[in-house]
Amino acid sequence: MRTTELIKLVNKVVPERDFIFLDAEKCDNCHACIFVCPSCLWEMKAGKVAIKKDYKALCLECGACYQACLPDAIRFDFPPAGSGIAVKYG
Ligand code: SF4
Ligand code: SF4
Repeated sequence: MRTTELIKLVNKVVPERDFIFLDAEKCDNCHACIFVCPSCLWEMKAGKVAIKKDYKALCLECGACYQACLPDAIRFDFPPAGSGIAVKYG
């Protein structure tokens, strides 16, 4: 299933605050987050890995980036209650 189709299956309230944080000091540019993110929200910017600006609206909260980041450079705080995704028919 493509990401655009998957996103139609969710109700989303875009969180007001950030919930994914990247510690650039710890990041070793391994690209694991880029490979595992089902929404393609990680990218290379000026030679460094970064999360896309609109990630809050597109993140599926799967935690794969956080799990795949062996240097522990990603902090994943869940969005506040009442925001984020809820899967339809789930
Ligand atoms: S939590 Fe999942 S969807 Fe969100 S940025 Fe990480 S890998 Fe991508
Ligand atoms: S998985 Fe972690 S260490 Fe690897 S590029 Fe992504 S943020 Fe950096």
